[in-house]
Amino acid sequence: MNKLAFDLNFEPKYGHAVVLSPLLRRVTCNNPGPFTFTGTNTFIVGRGTVAIVDPGPDDGGHLAAILRATSGETVSHILVTHTHADHSPLAAKLAEATGARTYGALFNRARHDGFRLDASIDETFSPDFAVGDSDVIGGTGWNLQGVSTPGHMGNHTAYALLEEKSLLVGDHVMAWATSIVAPPDGHMGDYMASLQKLLKRDDEVLHPAHGPLAKNPKKLTGGILAHRNMREEMVLARVKAGDRAVEDIVKAIYVDLDPKLHGAARLSTLAHLEHLVERALVEMRGAFYSALK
Ligand SMILES: [Zn+2]
Repeated sequence: MNKLAFDLNFEPKYGHAVVLSPLLRRVTCNNPGPFTFTGTNTFIVGRGTVAIVDPGPDDGGHLAAILRATSGETVSHILVTHTHADHSPLAAKLAEATGARTYGALFNRARHDGFRLDASIDETFSPDFAVGDSDVIGGTGWNLQGVSTPGHMGNHTAYALLEEKSLLVGDHVMAWATSIVAPPDGHMGDYMASLQKLLKRDDEVLHPAHGPLAKNPKKLTGGILAHRNMREEMVLARVKAGDRAVEDIVKAIYVDLDPKLHGAARLSTLAHLEHLVERALVEMRGAFYSALK
């Protein structure tokens, strides 16, 4: 079986700004968990007049850490990769404290309605400026280009730091674990297409919003794509073997699963089934699935 080699080697240094490159610093929020690993990585872009990418959850200690890390500087922009609760809620208080304007992609609510993982979405964030694919946000000494990467969430956007050929990749691709793709906000077809999009780029380093950076973007992204394809094969094989309910498929595929992650595994399986149904490989009747080919 194709096993992804995860990189769990990461020291979060809560409350401190870690210098990553001439234009990039990282402050990790102290919100570790099964979906956030060691916490949310907030990035400071530039020197003197800076952008904050992914301010993080509404956390007073993290707000203080960001303000401390940028004291004596001007925060001119706040960018959000997507509106999950561990990424965008602090934007409002940070904007209030700094006067910066907020940026992010808009969310297509109509396409993403239905049951979702508890409190995972930040319903309050509404950007001052909507970021579309390829839009360049120019600051003082830095330029960030929006790279629309839906899949993990419909409004997911990565930001390319053009001066350094690096990509602030949010939750799209991470080195410590696979990303959650859970309907209705997550969409497997979009996710696979966004992985292909990354493979065509020439980023030299990826900076995910959780865990360590990745210095070999194509290897990591290619590995994740292969892993998703393998999962899809497994789901299709179970449906062909006669498993009709999602629960049966989850039990057969995710052996030795941490019970805390059962909900996510179930939604991920649903996302694969949805993708198979969209391509007419599987048919759904009520809550039951059957193979068409
Ligand atoms: Zn997320």
